[in-house]
Amino acid sequence: MQDVLLDVQDLVVHFRVYGGYLKVLDGVTLQVRHQERVGLVGETGCGKTTTMKTIMGILPKPPGVVRGGRILFKGRDVLSMRPQELEHLRRSGISMIFQDPTAALNPVFTVGEQLEDAIRYALGKRDHASVREVALSALQSVALPDPPRILESYPVQLSGGMRQRVCIALALACPKELLIADEPGTSLDVTIQDQILRLIHRLAEERKMAVILISHSLGVIREWTERVYVMYAGTIVEEAKTGELFARPLHPYTEALMRCVPKLTGTGIAEGIPGRIPDYFDPPSGCRFHPRCPHCMDICRQRKPQLFPVDGDHRVACFLFGRDSHG
Ligand code: SF4
Repeated sequence: MQDVLLDVQDLVVHFRVYGGYLKVLDGVTLQVRHQERVGLVGETGCGKTTTMKTIMGILPKPPGVVRGGRILFKGRDVLSMRPQELEHLRRSGISMIFQDPTAALNPVFTVGEQLEDAIRYALGKRDHASVREVALSALQSVALPDPPRILESYPVQLSGGMRQRVCIALALACPKELLIADEPGTSLDVTIQDQILRLIHRLAEERKMAVILISHSLGVIREWTERVYVMYAGTIVEEAKTGELFARPLHPYTEALMRCVPKLTGTGIAEGIPGRIPDYFDPPSGCRFHPRCPHCMDICRQRKPQLFPVDGDHRVACFLFGRDSHG
């Protein structure tokens, strides 16, 4: 793939627990081009946030252990970066909107101290008035009322929704090359969430910034992304251009996920996916989806399918669509 900004290759991450390891990521491979808007979908617990935290260099170790794979950002290996290099990467290369705002805000500093520190580092501005101006405008852009008061507040003095908007302001205050938005605004009401997505879209265009949008809402992914990765139980099972994926979902899991969307036409209640995400302590052999798959074959229990190209950029990890050289 030409013009690649982020290249994740065969990433394997386990978590140490009493009595063994949870084998959460099982060879995640994905790429993001410069200025591209990429979606990542999958059920809760499928490893989306673990993948993003590993990319950001904030996977808690222990219990997290990177067992294999590479993460290249602009050709540089993130997994071998020293702590200062990772800090620089987070302050000037990649920012992340966290699903949980408490993970991003330090409770002992005011919002203003945290926001102004990030702006000073990224923009190199020493003049207090101009830094404060950027901070105020960042808070305004996420529809927070009374930004001067918010700047003086500690996170604990704000509601959960306000803290989430502060996190979004923190992530968007300064230009970065890649924004990872993990369920941005899901705890906010739909009008604010829509406003946040429009803001991300506008800033991505203005700043020529790439975006990875993680969302459980297929509608959000369909509207705001150009290409989509579908993740199941720690592995990518399908990737395609957004229009192509929604028009022609191929992997049995993607098909099932699409059937879960509630029908606004009132023609029936959405179907669920029988079974549940596997136990990562002892995941299924071969294709991790096989215990839930209506098309399961013998080979599915024995071998893990690779991503087979189907049509152009459309690739699917399923033996219904191809066999590798050993299959
Ligand atoms: Fe189903 Fe086999 Fe395809 Fe897995 S590889 S999704 S079990 S048909």
